[in-house]
Amino acid sequence: MLRVAFIGLGRMGHGMAGRYLDAGFSVSVWNRSQRKADDLVARGAKWGSSPMRAVEDADAVVTMVADDEASREVWLGEKGVVASWKPDRLAIECSTVSYGHACDLGRQLGWRGISYIDCPVTGLPDAAAAGKLTLLVGADAADLEKARPFLEPLGSIRHFGPVGSGTVYKLINNLMGSIQIAGLAEGLAIAEQAGLDMNLVLEAILSGVVASPQVVRHSQRMVARNFSGATFTAALRHKDAAYAVALAESLLAVEPLMGRAAVQTYMRAKAYAPDDDEAKMIEIVSRPKGPRT
Ligand code: NAP
Repeated sequence: MLRVAFIGLGRMGHGMAGRYLDAGFSVSVWNRSQRKADDLVARGAKWGSSPMRAVEDADAVVTMVADDEASREVWLGEKGVVASWKPDRLAIECSTVSYGHACDLGRQLGWRGISYIDCPVTGLPDAAAAGKLTLLVGADAADLEKARPFLEPLGSIRHFGPVGSGTVYKLINNLMGSIQIAGLAEGLAIAEQAGLDMNLVLEAILSGVVASPQVVRHSQRMVARNFSGATFTAALRHKDAAYAVALAESLLAVEPLMGRAAVQTYMRAKAYAPDDDEAKMIEIVSRPKGPRT
């Protein structure tokens, strides 16, 4: 029986960990807030009192936490994975982290003889729970072959190249998404304040050339002001855009103006409602112009 440890049971990680139980793996879990593990433990997962404890018997460790800081903590912290881990095992980082952190983690684990692959994902929490994510992999070919049985329960694999390359793709994907969503909010706000019939605007958007999947999904939610069932928050989107802009600044001669605008827009959205659905940014973008106070 394959043994996996899963660290980070948020919106995405909870469903992903459940996939391993569905597939008959021996699963141990850890999350900063223990209560999120309760139903997984009731289904047969073993609770570890720290990342260090959760991974003791595992052949592979999969992590799905918020950001660089959380990833550093669970892998390299005092009670992190490496504190108890043996070489020849497999480390799979699914969180969206910065490119610098992905490469650094790869080096730090490599020095300890641990095979590391970066594996951020696309897909919403419902896809995570259904094993229908797209896995954006950066890995040596041999490590990917070792990892394949641990990746298959989660979704389909796109291998971009060596460690770090999955993260590059994930960051450009989410940067482009953030630009689309921020642009959509501004467009809708203008139409609203100009007094257009928003049902007609919505109909025109959905049948027009700007109707990307991001625009389709968020235009409906923004026009209806329906932000229930938050799947991706303003804070996480801001983090991804900021990581992408940092990468752009390290690679490009010309300033990434579009990316920076998206980061600023999401900084405002994050200050307004960090843990709500990112579409809620429409509430601040659409405020009418009034006398300056
Ligand atoms: P989430 O629901 O906010 O979960 C975040 C997870 O990180 C929780 O398990 C949280 O623990 C943990 N965490 C945060 N700070 C920590 C720290 N300092 N130490 C240890 N654990 C910490 O977020 P999510 O939506 O599942 O996203 C997880 C990752 O997937 C992020 O990198 C995100 O960018 C990426 N992602 C999300 C989506 C999506 O649609 N949501 C899609 C693709 C990729 P607690 O439970 O204790 O707070």
